[in-house]
Amino acid sequence: MNENLAKIRHSASHILAAAVLRLFPNTKLDIGPATENGFYYDFDSDHKFTADDLVKIEDEMRKIISENQKFERFTESYDDAKKRIEASDQGLYKLGRLDDIPAGEEVSFFKNGEFCDLCGGDHIDYTKRIKAFKLLSIAGAYHRGDEKNKQLQRIYGTAFETKEELEKYLNQLEEAKLRDHRKLGKEMGLFTIDDKVGQGLILWKPRGAILRQELQNYILELLNSQGYQQVFTPHIGKLGLFRTSGHFPYYKESQFVPLIEREDLDRMSKANLPVSKFEEEIESGLAEGFLLKPMNCPFHVQIYKSEMHSYRDLPVKLAEFGNVYRWEQSGELNGMTRVRGFTQDDAHIFCMPEQLDGEIQSCLDLVKSVFDTLGMKEYRVRISLRDPSSDKYVGSEENWQKSEAAILKAAKTLGVPFTEEIGEAAFYGPKIDFVIKDVIGREWQLGTVQVDYNLPERFELSYIGSDNKPHVPVMIHRAPFGSLERFTGVLIEHFGGKFPTWLSPEQVRIIAMNDSVIPFADEVFVALKSKGVRVSMDTSGDKLGGKIRKAETEKVPHMFVIGNKEAENKSVSLRSRIKKAFEGTHNYREAVELIVNDIKTRTLPDSF
Ligand SMILES: [Zn+2]
Ligand SMILES: [Zn+2]
Repeated sequence: MNENLAKIRHSASHILAAAVLRLFPNTKLDIGPATENGFYYDFDSDHKFTADDLVKIEDEMRKIISENQKFERFTESYDDAKKRIEASDQGLYKLGRLDDIPAGEEVSFFKNGEFCDLCGGDHIDYTKRIKAFKLLSIAGAYHRGDEKNKQLQRIYGTAFETKEELEKYLNQLEEAKLRDHRKLGKEMGLFTIDDKVGQGLILWKPRGAILRQELQNYILELLNSQGYQQVFTPHIGKLGLFRTSGHFPYYKESQFVPLIEREDLDRMSKANLPVSKFEEEIESGLAEGFLLKPMNCPFHVQIYKSEMHSYRDLPVKLAEFGNVYRWEQSGELNGMTRVRGFTQDDAHIFCMPEQLDGEIQSCLDLVKSVFDTLGMKEYRVRISLRDPSSDKYVGSEENWQKSEAAILKAAKTLGVPFTEEIGEAAFYGPKIDFVIKDVIGREWQLGTVQVDYNLPERFELSYIGSDNKPHVPVMIHRAPFGSLERFTGVLIEHFGGKFPTWLSPEQVRIIAMNDSVIPFADEVFVALKSKGVRVSMDTSGDKLGGKIRKAETEKVPHMFVIGNKEAENKSVSLRSRIKKAFEGTHNYREAVELIVNDIKTRTLPDSF
């Protein structure tokens, strides 16, 4: 966000607060910053704001803007500021905010018209500079984001430098609502989340499972062509395994509570241990148990370790669509994109340091192929490098230089924008993250490719080099699409549910116009089915228009309409949402070939 836009948005939040105070004078103010997409202000009011209120508040804001008030900054000592806030009757939250300002720092206020707010920010000069704003929604928000505090009412709005930009953003919001994967997932019968099963745990329904299976098969094809080997590992592993890997207890806050070994549980309960003691025993390893795996890495490491390796075998590339479980706060959960159980498109590459270059490159090639196939034209990468002045990193200087250079070199070949973030690397190695932009311009963070010098050391991995001596391999963790759940959620929104044929749960619908054509329609059905096409037949008594509309709302990519004339000529009248070029009457075998080829080549729709 440019500086001017940030000022506009923050100023709009002051104007929002000023308008609310004019209309609801008893309201207590908390804070109102500019955000990535607009601004908000948090209010404490006995009156519950409604959508109608938003209209009134907007009108009042327009009035304030047309009054062309000047934004004026002034500063005061802490004591004077305190007195001012107390006199204004806004002490409830503002005094606490005042106390956040480090002692000795000057306290600044911004004033426009009758409104005055404690404010360390920066503003435009006159209210009239706001040319385009809109209030969007009301949501509950805990004071300081803490559930123990009072829930306030947050009013969200947005503002832009021009009316056109605002219009564009509002359209994008509308479009995003239509594409919402939670809504489409339900309408299209793709997945469900059931409170009885647990929040954040995805139940893939048959149609969603088809989508996932197709995606998985496609990724597997690419992995196989790159020399990966598939493995399967269990959902739980001993706590000791994760102690060695370092995942437990250091990241226990983001994991499910461990499953305790029955004997240890009996022993501890017989000894009447208090819960805190109990936890101590588990964390220290006096009591054993199992962890729902938060990561697949330690399992793949143990597979690598189960055999001797020579430099000739490397790289070893182990891939798994591995289920992992992470503890997310319930407030953070969101459809398929923020969940507690998910399936990583995970793989670990064990290689020699000199192979790092090529391996990172092939990881990026794979990502590029998938993005190309799915029409994700716009994406960028974030490269996280170490901060050379910090000493928190493991691994030799030489290795870091090599791996950072390898990552940068590979990223440059992608031909997409990338940023280098110094100091953002994990302590064990640099990484690349992928951020894609969907067709309506929203960004989604996907997965990562990470170099790791730490885990091979921790697990004492080795291979025998050409010098006949043992060496430590380097590991690459890569889950470029993050998880199948998240990626599917993003894909649903990206395509707005209008998937290309190969991903569509139903690929062709045959529409029989009357009963007399059913024998021929059956023949076409069998012809499609025998080629593996997912086809259904509509033989209902509905009118043609109704049948077509039904297939359209169900987002079926192709319709074969069969009437008397078509049946006579052994042809079909093809209607296609995917390829305009397919439309028209075709000999039915030719039509089947068109579809089969469309699926095989994973053609993208003309538009989506
Ligand atoms: Zn301010
Ligand atoms: Zn890993």
